[in-house]
Amino acid sequence: MIISTPKGREELEALLAGYRTLFLVGCGACATVCKVGGEDEVFATQEWLEAGGREVVGSMVLKEACHVMRAARELRRYRSQVDEAEVLLVLSCGGGVQSISSCTDTRVLAGVDSLFLGNIRRFGEFEEKCSLCGECILNETAGICPVTNCPKGVLNGPCGGMEDGHCEVDAERDCIWAKIYRRLEKQQRLAAFDRVVEAKDWSKKFKPGRHQLARNPGSGVEK
Ligand code: SF4
Ligand code: SF4
Repeated sequence: MIISTPKGREELEALLAGYRTLFLVGCGACATVCKVGGEDEVFATQEWLEAGGREVVGSMVLKEACHVMRAARELRRYRSQVDEAEVLLVLSCGGGVQSISSCTDTRVLAGVDSLFLGNIRRFGEFEEKCSLCGECILNETAGICPVTNCPKGVLNGPCGGMEDGHCEVDAERDCIWAKIYRRLEKQQRLAAFDRVVEAKDWSKKFKPGRHQLARNPGSGVEK
C-alpha cells in the first residue's frame, strides 16, 4: 500500500490562502489505513477549516481515489457542490490527487505527502520493502530486497563499510547482506552467495509506468 503522511496545518493554511469555499475528498483505501484521508480525517479537516472561517460545501470518501474512472463517476454525483467550491482538497496519495485533478478544471490541492510503497508490520507501523524496480531479483537474494533495504542499493554486498554485521550507514540496523547470507545459510544455499547479481536493467523502470493486463480469451476475465 501507499504510505503517506499529512501535510502540516501551517502548510495547508498557506496553500488555502485566498480560498473560502472547499470540497473535501478522502480515500477509503491506503489513506484510511495511514489515517490521513479516511472518514475521521476528512471530518477533522472539515472542523478545522470551518473553525478557521471557511465553508466546506461538500465532502466524499472514495473507495479508492487512485481508480480514475470510479473517481470521475463519484465526482459527477457531487457536481453541484464541486462547482460551488473554489478549490478541492484531496486527502490521498499523489495518485489519488491526480485522479481527481484529471476530472475537474477546478484547482485541486494535495493535503498529504506520499512516502513509499509499504508493508504493514502492525497497526500504524509501516516499512518499505520494495522500490518497484521493474526487475525483481528476490529469487537470487533469499527473498530479501537489497535494492530497497540497503541504503546504497548494493547488489553484490556487503560493502566494505559493514562492521560486525551492522550497516555502516545506520549502525542500529543489520547489514541487509548479512541477513541475506544468514538466510541462505539456513536454506543451505550458500552457493548462491558466490554468484554475481547482474547489474540491473533500469530501463525497465521507465517512467511513467504503464501496464495493461492481457485478456484471457477463455474466461473473459483479465489475467
Ligand atoms: S528487487 Fe526489490 S525493488 Fe525490485 S521488484 Fe524486487 S523487491 Fe521490489
Ligand atoms: S553495510 Fe550492508 S546494508 Fe549497509 S550500506 Fe553496506 S551493504 Fe548496504
